[in-house]
Amino acid sequence: MWFFRPEKFFFERLSHDADLFTEIRDIFGRSGGRMGFFTAVGAVKNARIAFYDQNRKEYIETFLDGPAEILSCVGNISDIEGDVSVHAHITLGYADSSVRGGHLLEGTAVFACELFGVILEGDVLHRKFDDITGLKLWEHGT
Ligand code: ZN
Repeated sequence: MWFFRPEKFFFERLSHDADLFTEIRDIFGRSGGRMGFFTAVGAVKNARIAFYDQNRKEYIETFLDGPAEILSCVGNISDIEGDVSVHAHITLGYADSSVRGGHLLEGTAVFACELFGVILEGDVLHRKFDDITGLKLWEHGT
């Protein structure tokens, strides 16, 4: 278990047509925060999400074309090989009240989005490849 203290909280309005994933990564990058977490609500014009197949150890990607509400988008920020790592999951609501969701990928177009972020102070967690899961998981910071 790793412990952190909150350093800063922030709100940010994401730009229309921005890429949801890269915009979150860039906002945290500009803030200087290397550890954090966030939530976001709003709407997207389309979405690119994935499901991790635990047997094949690969992501199965899905592109969802068309407008959807961001019912929930939650994630964390850490370090991957010196860059900002965003790990985010998203739940999307559609006009017929159905819900889809998964691991958020690049390629999701923002219609409107409000981001709430927390920048943490303390060690930085680094992601490294894990043989058992095939995922890049946290190793303790130095
Ligand atoms: Zn994930």
